Amino acid sequence: MDIKRDVTITSWDGTWTYKPKVIATPESAEDIVEIMVDEVRFPAPVRPAGSMHSTARVNGDDGGTMVDMKAMNRILHFTGDTVTVEAGVTYIVLANALKERGLQPYVTTEIGNVTLGAMATAATKDSSFVGGFGQVSSYVTAVRLVTPDGKLREINERDHPKEMQIIRSSYGLLGIVYEVTLKVKPTTALSVRHYSLSLENFRRYFPIYKARGFAVMYYIFPYVRRVLVELRKDNPEAQPNSRYRWVYRNRFWRKYGPAVTLWIQRSTKNPKLRAIADKIHFFLLRQALVFVVRSDRTWPHAQIINYPRDPGANKYLFSMWAFREGGFFDILEEYCNFCLAYERQTGYRCDLPSVGYAIGRDVEALFSYSWEGPTLSIDPASTGGPEWEEFLRHYNEFCSERRGVPLFNQTPFLTREQVRRAFGPRLQHFAAIRKQADPKDRLLDSYFRELLS
Ligand SMILES: Cc1cc2nc3c(=O)[nH]c(=O)nc-3n(C[C@H](O)[C@H](O)[C@H](O)COP(=O)(O)OP(=O)(O)OC[C@H]3O[C@@H](n4cnc5c(N)ncnc54)[C@H](O)[C@@H]3O)c2cc1C
Repeated sequence: MDIKRDVTITSWDGTWTYKPKVIATPESAEDIVEIMVDEVRFPAPVRPAGSMHSTARVNGDDGGTMVDMKAMNRILHFTGDTVTVEAGVTYIVLANALKERGLQPYVTTEIGNVTLGAMATAATKDSSFVGGFGQVSSYVTAVRLVTPDGKLREINERDHPKEMQIIRSSYGLLGIVYEVTLKVKPTTALSVRHYSLSLENFRRYFPIYKARGFAVMYYIFPYVRRVLVELRKDNPEAQPNSRYRWVYRNRFWRKYGPAVTLWIQRSTKNPKLRAIADKIHFFLLRQALVFVVRSDRTWPHAQIINYPRDPGANKYLFSMWAFREGGFFDILEEYCNFCLAYERQTGYRCDLPSVGYAIGRDVEALFSYSWEGPTLSIDPASTGGPEWEEFLRHYNEFCSERRGVPLFNQTPFLTREQVRRAFGPRLQHFAAIRKQADPKDRLLDSYFRELLS
């Protein structure tokens, strides 16, 4: 196993800087056991790291041990409806391997860099299909992990359904996962359409989209009070043959959206001119998505994007809160008002469209954000900077006041009060289980110590 000492490492885009005493890169479960039991060579907190694409600071404390899981990256075996992989395999690599066998994951997320260990234990999602889940971990049927006291364990859905529910929300606090089994299905062509709507029409049409069985994702343009909906549906009648529709969309996310918005910012300091330029940019974007990204037979795998490390200035950052479907459309209106008022007060406006996902009720993971019923999220997005971070602190308050539910790894700057409000007794339940599993706090870092206390 590779071991480095006193290294400085950042999250994928440089937002978070970590200075662990040790970075260990295990190549086997035995290496992880060694890390877990040798408290002198590998000081606490011991925190597993995947690709470090979480937008919150979840990969450990300065002076502790970071366990880089990316060298454990073998795809181990397939059955007709599952695949078992080592925890460091990334989703895009897995999706390509599944494609070769005529298979696909149930949830095709936008991000492809996520490691399967992170997917099994932290939240990763996309809009859900009728009768399906939006959170990938809900399709994880078994994990093998090294417990905080250095034991090897298998936990699976058949024998330990309650434990699986906890593991799917464990964020590396109950052990380091080294193997993951995920449910998969035969590849089915995916039809996709985009429609540009006013907020009123989104409110009116959403129940119709649901009734017709579409998975609904949306881009929100708060400064012009519009929404671009992305509707997806399996199309078993057709053979998939279109990849480029998704490639065009993905290039916007990865590159052109951030690049154009930063070019606008560099080209004009005048807020009025900038607002006009943003308006034109996003109008053209909506038209392009409506007219270009439409097909009845796309490859589902092609939706998945590779966001490589060190993207430079052209990066895409976001934060996430979900709301119960019942009151969502009022909150969406209030969100647009909030963004406009915030701009008037501070001069700051988010420079990329916000996004959101509709997902069905899901109680497979303890910290599922649709535990109590179906939800829709509002995820502001930006190219980053200190003003963005200040905006997020205010946004967290806005959401918490409206009973929003965040994600520990995708909602930066959470406070203890905000997570307590969102998760209530589930938080205490998890804290008690964690304490029992890890009485010496070997895996507990300051981020989770604060939020779980
Ligand atoms: C540009 C961009 C786009 C994104 N798009 C999406 C999207 O479409 N949908 C979505 O849901 N999210 C998205 N995200 C968020 C991100 O992908 C998720 O937060 C994901 O969980 C990060 O995976 P990772 O491998 O980078 O894990 P990390 O960020 O390294 O870790 C996440 C958590 O998992 C724990 N962990 C990691 N490996 C293990 C292991 N082997 N055993 C136990 N615990 C472990 C870590 O300790 C940490 O708590 C996006 C992020 C970015 C930056």
